Amino acid sequence: MSVVQVVLAIPERNNQKKNFMIQKIAVLTSGGDAPGMNAAIRAVVRTAIFHGIAVMGVRYGYQGLIDDDIFPMESRDVANIIQMGGTMLKTARSKDFMTEEGRSKAAANLKKHGVEGLVVIGGDGSFRGACALYAEHQVPIIGIPGTIDKDISGTDYTIGFDTAVNTAIEAIDKIRDTAAAHDRLFIVEVMGRDAGYIALNSGIATGAESVLVPERITNVARVAEMIDYDQKRRKNVHIIIVAEGDDFGAEPLTHVLQHKFPAMEIRHTVLGHIQRGGSPTYYDRVQASRLGYHAVLALKEGKSQEMAGIVNNHIAFAPMDSVVKKHQPIDDDLLDMVRVLSS
Ligand code: ADP
Repeated sequence: MSVVQVVLAIPERNNQKKNFMIQKIAVLTSGGDAPGMNAAIRAVVRTAIFHGIAVMGVRYGYQGLIDDDIFPMESRDVANIIQMGGTMLKTARSKDFMTEEGRSKAAANLKKHGVEGLVVIGGDGSFRGACALYAEHQVPIIGIPGTIDKDISGTDYTIGFDTAVNTAIEAIDKIRDTAAAHDRLFIVEVMGRDAGYIALNSGIATGAESVLVPERITNVARVAEMIDYDQKRRKNVHIIIVAEGDDFGAEPLTHVLQHKFPAMEIRHTVLGHIQRGGSPTYYDRVQASRLGYHAVLALKEGKSQEMAGIVNNHIAFAPMDSVVKKHQPIDDDLLDMVRVLSS
């Protein structure tokens, strides 16, 4: 590539504020943290600055808005964070923000700092909060779906899900090694209070024998039948993945199955918070960057009360109040596939 081509490849920075309606925005992360949130924050900050829009960071989510934990951000503030899990802005669950009084304080602080638009990176609870803030104080907000549970409709992608599933897979692969060595049955609980996506996808990717999700009523008799069938054909290693929000639950299941199969060695493992942490995968870094970039462009274009999502690998906006009303349905076809492929 010649020097001329290299120079042309660098987009022109536009600092002519007079062209734009919006002059200052703020960004926060709220609710459960998810790996990739830092990539989104970095994209929001740098896209805004590129377009001549000032950016404020808000620490500790909505609580930081209420406590006025709001500070100006520069491009260098988001250097060296794209590879880090967690969120450099910190996150929190805020009871105060559930009250009208709390939201009034938050709106007053935003006004005090001259903030004209807000980017909220969080889950459906955070979007419900954003809807309330908009309804009462008309603060323009763009939401970015950040949740490892992937329980938000209107988008195929949520920040952190890919990394969380990969973390779960790595752990379950190790569990399978020891299960195979001892001919044991392992019941592995993965995250997902309301949604079984981590369970379903980590189950498929690790060749689990059964996957139990909150979206379906667990039929313990059926699970026992399958173990019995596998035992009869000398398939002695069995992994059952249970989402934490499953109606029956991993621990009771362990007791029931141990009672039913006293000769079997049954172990129960909870993967827990390791699924939230860690360096984000390439996919989470790239998609989170896309969402951060487009969230700022959306505010700049005057969009409000919409969530920036990804549908069929294209950026797609959905009204925020519609995405909080329904969850993504779980795919029956994938659930059926688990049993067929593990036979
Ligand atoms: P997530 O965004 O990960 O789903 P939460 O459900 O805990 O996490 O929501 C994050 C925060 O959003 C809550 O701590 C609260 O401050 C705010 N929030 C949630 N629901 C509402 C609501 N109905 N009205 C106002 N604020 C809400």
